[in-house]
Amino acid sequence: MAFFIDGHCDSAVLPNPQKLITGSAGQLDFLRLTANHKAQIFAFFLNERKYKAKLLEEMLVKAALFKQIVNNCEFTDLLLKKSDLAKNKVLALMSLEGVEVLLGRPELAEIFFDIGFRAAGLTWNNDNWAAGGCGGNNSGLTEAGYVLIEKLNELDMIIDLAHASPKTFREVIKTSKKPVMVSHSCCFSLHEHRRNLTNEQLRLLAEKGGICGINFYPEFLKGSTANIEDIVEHIHHAVNIAGLEQVGLGSDFDGIDELPGGMNGVQDLPKLAEALSQKGYAEAAVAKIMGGNWYRFLRDNLPY
Ligand SMILES: [Zn+2]
Repeated sequence: MAFFIDGHCDSAVLPNPQKLITGSAGQLDFLRLTANHKAQIFAFFLNERKYKAKLLEEMLVKAALFKQIVNNCEFTDLLLKKSDLAKNKVLALMSLEGVEVLLGRPELAEIFFDIGFRAAGLTWNNDNWAAGGCGGNNSGLTEAGYVLIEKLNELDMIIDLAHASPKTFREVIKTSKKPVMVSHSCCFSLHEHRRNLTNEQLRLLAEKGGICGINFYPEFLKGSTANIEDIVEHIHHAVNIAGLEQVGLGSDFDGIDELPGGMNGVQDLPKLAEALSQKGYAEAAVAKIMGGNWYRFLRDNLPY
């Protein structure tokens, strides 16, 4: 049986993260992961417009709480370096979603690395001090943004281009010395949405050795009538354009207010594996999409 790795969820920043180990009413908690769930990327998104001057403080509190939970739970561990992948535990990788919290200072990325963050999305939807977001004015990297890219490369912090503007996307692909990820997006040519990747972007991502996690959000897939087969269609399209090795899962569990029909939470990932088989994917290909590709990408791009 294939193991699963999911490139994005928002479960770490829910109001009571303790529920990750006691069981939540949301879309993901550790109790509901199936036995073959190998790793999960946990995004840390806090809206700067809500937290304002308290943003950094709140982020540090969220990170501290999450680390405490993961480190004290016997079947989970933080994913910090390549060799951690060999551990027989559920691995949690902490990722910043938006660098607003670095307050315009690229050098602060190092502090977040020390805390345990191993990836950073440059923006959420809005433009910020570093880069343009997909809901902004299609601005690209700022001067400080270029410095940040260099810093993230140097630290082996993986750059996430989900939510990036088209210009940011192009400039980072051109500038980054390391492969990048798009942790939770879908395909623009199947459903025109600003959060989805065009075929050209999928090709550029693949040439860079990057990976795209396909998002489960009906609004990105096709609208409210989406079901599991629509996730399969987006995976299939991304595989056709970017290649079988460059596509994985990016569920967005607990970051989205509705799920496709048939998908009720992380416990239903085996249904997606089954639907890929139904589509004609061989067992080895299903294994790559469900987790093998993320495994290879993380092994290649995490620090020693
Ligand atoms: Zn997001």
